[in-house]
Amino acid sequence: MSQGVVRGSCLCGSVRWRVERALESMTHCHCSMCRKSHGAPFATYVNARAASFRWLQGEAQVVSYRASALGPRCFCGQCGSIVPGPDVEGERQSLPAGGLEGALATEPVAHIFVASKAAWYPLPDDGLPRFDAFMPEQRGESLEREVEASSEPGWVRGSCLCGASAFELASGGWTLMQCHCSRCRRARSAAHGGNLFAAAERFRWIRGEAGLRLYRLPEAERFGQAFCTRCGSSMPRNSPFGFVVPAGSLDGDPGIVERRHIFVGSKAPWFTIADTFPQFEALPPR
Ligand SMILES: [Zn+2]
Ligand SMILES: [Zn+2]
Ligand SMILES: [Zn+2]
Repeated sequence: MSQGVVRGSCLCGSVRWRVERALESMTHCHCSMCRKSHGAPFATYVNARAASFRWLQGEAQVVSYRASALGPRCFCGQCGSIVPGPDVEGERQSLPAGGLEGALATEPVAHIFVASKAAWYPLPDDGLPRFDAFMPEQRGESLEREVEASSEPGWVRGSCLCGASAFELASGGWTLMQCHCSRCRRARSAAHGGNLFAAAERFRWIRGEAGLRLYRLPEAERFGQAFCTRCGSSMPRNSPFGFVVPAGSLDGDPGIVERRHIFVGSKAPWFTIADTFPQFEALPPR
């Protein structure tokens, strides 16, 4: 494919990398581990040969967490963005597409792990093939993060990938905000964020709140990211609009009744919105 270099960075900018094209097998992954790690409805990854990848800065700040027998999941210890990580053999580097800059000269080729898709995410028909687990040419076992049950009916559990932190939401009536702004894409290292905004009475911590770190973007009025310092998963944080809950961390269906795409003016060039939910260039009108 085309020549050239693609650069990427985390939300806080302290970890930076570059990779030479060609990028291979770009896929949207719906597995429960990706959803929790990224806090998003699904994750999007591209692969590159290890020799074509280089850290430019901040490698010492990269924390790795091994959730499975496959390669480690890596994240920025300061801001929680998911950053590239090696495969088991060390031959390839897996790059979360949300952290990459500009057009990539490649496009998603499939949805994988569709059998593990979030029950609350209606996967639209975008013409891409779907696979229950890996694509046939990919190797690896099917991977699942065990699902946590809520402590009582009427609530749904959410937890980070490693299980150190957990929370609950009251079921029903939720609006999913799928945000395409560059900050959300960087923070979640995904095509877009997917957040629920919870009033205090509909949200409660179950465990591990003290093990989370909150990163606040200095130039922003209120943008930040809370993440598990052990596994890097995005977790809820308090804000003037209530608790911002990354839907990918949910272990069950919270009862979403409305969905919006916001900041579509900043959408990733490689991502196509294929559903018919309302779209807003930036914030929706009040
Ligand atoms: Zn960072
Ligand atoms: Zn996955
Ligand atoms: Zn964790």
